[in-house]
Amino acid sequence: RHYGDSEKPRCGGCDELIFSNEYTQAEGQNWHLKHFCCFECDCILAGETYVMENDKPVCKPCYMKNYAVKCSSCQNAVEPEAQRVSYGDYHWHAEPQCFKCSGCSKCLIGQRFMAVKNFLCCSVECKKKIMA
Ligand SMILES: [Zn+2]
Ligand SMILES: [Zn+2]
Ligand SMILES: [Zn+2]
Ligand SMILES: [Zn+2]
Repeated sequence: RHYGDSEKPRCGGCDELIFSNEYTQAEGQNWHLKHFCCFECDCILAGETYVMENDKPVCKPCYMKNYAVKCSSCQNAVEPEAQRVSYGDYHWHAEPQCFKCSGCSKCLIGQRFMAVKNFLCCSVECKKKIMA
């Protein structure tokens, strides 16, 4: 380790010491404000919601545009901070209006369910109804 490490934080991006009083802490490291940027659009992420995608920080608008998974039920992108249920390659908002039986609309959060591709069912009876 270099002399001086203990006094000034070191930037996780450029590996230089940070002399400015303004810097951001994220992912267990310190960063120059302009070195913790969205990997897609380069916006400064300090104070913003961001998502780590493949070890690269991405701002929320870019995440929603390029990375967000789509809810199999309502077809809208699932916000990074939203609760979601994933099953195989399919995802749902963990909301009663999305994660529900395709046959009888019963909410399946915390319930036993069966999934047939992107369809959810609460019982064999509903599964038969969906597949019919
Ligand atoms: Zn830096
Ligand atoms: Zn961005
Ligand atoms: Zn949804
Ligand atoms: Zn059902």
